[in-house]
Amino acid sequence: MSADVIVIGAGLAGLRAARVLADAGRTVVVLEASDRVGGRVTTDEVDGFRLDRGFQLLNPAYAELRAAVDLVSLDVRGFERGVAVRDADGLTVLADPLRHPVTAVRGAGSRYLRPHQLRTAIGWLNGHDTRADDRRLAESFDAAGFTGPLRDVADTFLAGVLADEKGETSAAFVRSLVGWFLRGTPGVPAAGMAALPAALTDGLDVRLQTRAVAVNRRPGGVEVIVDGAEPLQARAVVVAVDPASVGELTSQPSVPMRGLVTWWFAAPTAPTQRRLLFVDAARRGPLVNSAVLSNVAPTYAPSGQHVVQCSAVLTGPAPTEAEVLAHAAAIYAAPTDDWQLLAVHEVPHSLPVTPPGLQRPPIDLGGGVFLAGDHVEGASIQGALLSGRRTAEAVLQTSAR
Ligand SMILES: Cc1cc2nc3c(=O)[nH]c(=O)nc-3n(C[C@H](O)[C@H](O)[C@H](O)COP(=O)(O)OP(=O)(O)OC[C@H]3O[C@@H](n4cnc5c(N)ncnc54)[C@H](O)[C@@H]3O)c2cc1C
Repeated sequence: MSADVIVIGAGLAGLRAARVLADAGRTVVVLEASDRVGGRVTTDEVDGFRLDRGFQLLNPAYAELRAAVDLVSLDVRGFERGVAVRDADGLTVLADPLRHPVTAVRGAGSRYLRPHQLRTAIGWLNGHDTRADDRRLAESFDAAGFTGPLRDVADTFLAGVLADEKGETSAAFVRSLVGWFLRGTPGVPAAGMAALPAALTDGLDVRLQTRAVAVNRRPGGVEVIVDGAEPLQARAVVVAVDPASVGELTSQPSVPMRGLVTWWFAAPTAPTQRRLLFVDAARRGPLVNSAVLSNVAPTYAPSGQHVVQCSAVLTGPAPTEAEVLAHAAAIYAAPTDDWQLLAVHEVPHSLPVTPPGLQRPPIDLGGGVFLAGDHVEGASIQGALLSGRRTAEAVLQTSAR
């Protein structure tokens, strides 16, 4: 078989690259090792509950998302703006502390919004790092003088977003990610996160359970060796595999990954009516965030039932169910003994490590081989989609020469 372009990997980056190439009139075949599209974005259906495989959020503000899919058809159900912060004194809703500091506090405490803390947080956000002076997030916060209770909230919230408990991630990358959070109100598609890759796949020739094992440059094109099938030929190949597998098919090194673990519980009674992400600023247990997903999207649970997501950073053995339930009870100040475990999703390869000053890999590896993925443009849905588009454009430019 011969195509203009073979895309290896049907994650968001591969699907987006394939779509842009197909729209430009190229014949494209997508090879996917697993039995479904979407890569790290998928949804399991369990007893009528929709459980994303690892809790993740869709930010409708992502520019590449808006360019790639019809957001209306995804029927995104939004969270409320802000974060619910539990501490020893009670619950504080920080509605949008950086954009609307004055109206931010609902409820008791204003300890999170002291003028000095807010000023330093806003100052940090408006800062700028070149690649040379980029530094670890924790160092960057310290250098900006960002301390106190609001820093504790930021550390916990960002640990969940980055899968990084120690603030080792590039401050420049975090700043860009927080910028997206401030521009949009994240949510989930009514049908689950799997609706996103499904929308990107429409009309594409995707071969599931087809694992590429080698990519060989040949005169006038590229050959892809496929596990258990005849080799395939194309004029160009886009390697859009997960960051940890890049080294198996290219000369680029594989990228180390950070892990997350999510517990999904069925709850007969919702512990809150709010559509908010809850964090425990006092960190009295392993969880970095929790939300009642069925408040956000009632389609995530059968009628009359509720589904609660509880996530922790995965650095070693996952915490026990008992530890998670105890922490969730503290976070919601509500009993959790009648919650039923639906699933635990341990995803050790959730996000590529993004250290300060990271040198991104090249897109064009030469000889008709190209690279795409969230490790190329940024560890997020926005990054994966952007990478897919940019790489497709590089393929089109090369073949136009
Ligand atoms: C738990 C979790 C939470 C997240 N939360 C968020 C969030 O809230 N917001 C956000 O923006 N981002 C989030 N992300 C990140 C986001 O999901 C990823 O950045 C994005 O999905 C990466 O897409 P990708 O196409 O680059 O890679 P992948 O999704 O990893 O796709 C790579 C594909 O290549 C396939 N493949 C690998 N090897 C081969 C081979 N040899 N042959 C054929 N196919 C192969 C794989 O099976 C896979 O389908 C989260 C990720 C996880 C896991």
